[in-house]
Amino acid sequence: MTNSDREQTVLDAVRKDLLIGGEWRPAASGRTAPVVDPSTGKVLCEVADASVDDGLAALAAADAAQPSFAAMAPRERGEILRRAFALIMERIDDLALLMTLEMGKPIAESKAEIAYAAEFFRWFAEEAVRIDGDYAVAPNGASRFMVMRQPVGVSVFITPWNFPLAMGTRKIGPAVAAGCAVVIKPAQETPLSMLALGRILQEAGLPDGALNIVTTSDSGGVMEPIITDERTRKLSFTGSTPVGKKLLEQAARNVLRTSMELGGNASFLVFDDADLNAAVEGAMIAKMRNMGEACTAANRFLVHSSLAGEFANRLAERMGALTVGRGTEDGVQVGPLINAKGRDKVAELVEDAVQRGAKVLIGGKPVDGPGYFYQPTVLADVPRDARLQREEIFGPVAPITTFTDEDDALALANGTEFGLVNYQYTQNIDRALRVCERLESGMVGLNTGLVSNPAAPFGGVKQSGIGREGGTVGIEEFLEIKYVAVGLSS
Ligand code: NAP
Repeated sequence: MTNSDREQTVLDAVRKDLLIGGEWRPAASGRTAPVVDPSTGKVLCEVADASVDDGLAALAAADAAQPSFAAMAPRERGEILRRAFALIMERIDDLALLMTLEMGKPIAESKAEIAYAAEFFRWFAEEAVRIDGDYAVAPNGASRFMVMRQPVGVSVFITPWNFPLAMGTRKIGPAVAAGCAVVIKPAQETPLSMLALGRILQEAGLPDGALNIVTTSDSGGVMEPIITDERTRKLSFTGSTPVGKKLLEQAARNVLRTSMELGGNASFLVFDDADLNAAVEGAMIAKMRNMGEACTAANRFLVHSSLAGEFANRLAERMGALTVGRGTEDGVQVGPLINAKGRDKVAELVEDAVQRGAKVLIGGKPVDGPGYFYQPTVLADVPRDARLQREEIFGPVAPITTFTDEDDALALANGTEFGLVNYQYTQNIDRALRVCERLESGMVGLNTGLVSNPAAPFGGVKQSGIGREGGTVGIEEFLEIKYVAVGLSS
C-alpha cells in the first residue's frame, strides 16, 4: 500500500458523524465542516457540523444515561477504561497517523501523545475502585459523621487542538471512573482523534449516552446553551485564558463545578551552577515538544549572564540541526503549526523582539511553500519588554534573556499573570528547594524539561487555571462530598 493509500484508509475508518446516545448520526441540518491538513493546507475530510439542537440532544443523552452510569459497579467502569487503554495501544500506529494528518506533529510525537493519552485510562481504571469515604465519632461523642463521595453528574468538556487525544482522555478517564456521563466538544481543527476514541470506548463497552461527541464550527453558539442548561453539573475546559474566562462567566449562571486548564508562560531558569549539557537537553524538550505548541512549552529562557552566550550557542546548534517537514515523513522532527493564524502570530512576535533589539542566532522566518511551517528559532539578548515575554509564542522559538541573581530571576519568572509551570536547572540543592518554593506556578520542572505524567497532578495557578488533572487528586474533580450527620438515640 502506498503512503497516500494508507492515509486514505485511516481517514476512511473514522466515523465523521456526531456520537449521541450511542448512535452515530449526521448533524440535523446535514451540514459538515472541513478538517484541514496543516502541512498542505488541503482538506482531509468533512465532519458533522452540529447546531444548537444537536448539542442539546447530546446533553439530553448524557442526562438520560447519568443515573444508570453512576450506579454501575466501579470495577465495571474501571474495566471499560482498562479495555480502552489496551485497544488504543493496539491501534497506536493508525491513531498516530490520523493525529499527524489533522494536527501536523511528527509521527513519533503523535505516538508519544497517544501513549500518554492511553495512560490516563489505565491510571483512572485503577482509581475507579478507590473512591472512599469516612466514618467518625463527633468530638462530643453524641453523634457520628459519615462522608461519602458521589459523582458530580453530567460533565461537559471542551478541548483544544494541540493535544487532540490526551486533553480528552485526561478528562474522560476520571469522569468514567467517577460515574459521570459526558458531552465533549473537540476543537474544530482536530476532531478526528476524538471521533476515533469514541468508537474505541464503544468497543470497550461504554454504555450508550455515557460519552457524547459534538463537532461544530460554531463552538460559542453550540456550547453556551449546554453550559447554561440546568442538566449540566460540571464544566471542564482546556484552552486559552480568554476563552476560559468567558466560559467561567457562563458556568457562573448555574454555579457549576469547573476545572480550567488554561494558558501558560513558562520560564526556563538556568542558574550559574547548572549542568549545561543537561540544561540544553531539557531546553530542547521543554521548547520543542509539539513544535512549541504546548501550554507547558518554555516561553522564556532566563539564563544567568555568565552562561548565556554558551547556552545560546549550544541551543542554536541543536535547533539548527532539526529537520522540518510533513510529520508523516521519516526523519521529520518538526511539523507545521496548526494554521496560518498561528504561524503569523509567531512571525509577529519574533519581528517585535527583533525590532526591540533581539539577535537572531538561527531561524527567524516562516518557511515558504504550502503548509504553515516556521523555522526553529533561537533569539539572544531578548529585551524584557518584548511581547513574547508576556504572550504565549506557541511555536518553535526560544527567546533568551539574561538575569543577574536569584532575586532578579524570580522576579522575571513570576512577573506574569500565568502560573502553569516553570523549569529550573541548578545543582545546588538549597537553591533548588528555595526556588521551587518561591515560583508562582502549579508545577515546576527541576532539572527536567518534561513534567506531564498521568500519575501526577497537572494544573496551574493564577490565570493558568483552576483544579488539577491526573494523579490521585484528578478524580476529585468529578466527585461531590456528601456529609451525613448521624443522630444516635442514646
Ligand atoms: P482556544 O481558542 O481557547 O480553544 C480551545 C477550545 O475552546 C476549542 O475546542 C475551541 O473550539 C473552544 N472554544 C473557543 N471559543 C469558544 C467559546 N466561545 N465557547 C465554547 N468553546 C469555545 O485554545 P486553542 O487555541 O485551541 O488552544 C491553545 C490554548 O490552550 C493555549 O492557550 C494553551 O496554553 C492552552 N492549553 C492549556 C493546557 C493546560 O493544560 N493548561 C493544555 C493545552 C492547551 P474551536 O476551536 O472549535 O472554536
